[in-house]
Amino acid sequence: MQEAFRQAKYAFEEGEIPIGAVIVSNNRIIAKAYNQTEKLNDVTAHAEMLALTAAAEYLGNKYLNDCTMYVTVEPCVMCAGASYWAQLKRVVYGAPEPKRGYRRVGNLLHPKTEMVSGIMAQECAELMASFFAGKRN
Ligand SMILES: [Zn+2]
Repeated sequence: MQEAFRQAKYAFEEGEIPIGAVIVSNNRIIAKAYNQTEKLNDVTAHAEMLALTAAAEYLGNKYLNDCTMYVTVEPCVMCAGASYWAQLKRVVYGAPEPKRGYRRVGNLLHPKTEMVSGIMAQECAELMASFFAGKRN
């Protein structure tokens, strides 16, 4: 989660909504990404989507069923759906996202995917809050 948080800070520095994600396989980070919707002018360029694509490419396998994804904020419906298709072993997220997080619509993760929440939640939430506070000023 430390590395995902570092990725989120890169996003922050580039004026992107500060969310970062990493994917770990066999205790090794195989993909890391941060939100790039502004830079790529692509609403689907969420950290999780970019990390899933990079991890699948790295492994040469679209199924990531021995991988854990760490993401700084609760995934949205799109990213939870993507991780369903990837059949991730585990999804670990930091801060909850009551407005746009997937959990408000139910459990969209694959039935085999274990979910862990609240890791570094405060740091991740504070980074989001300071980003949006900066936007308003
Ligand atoms: Zn998303």
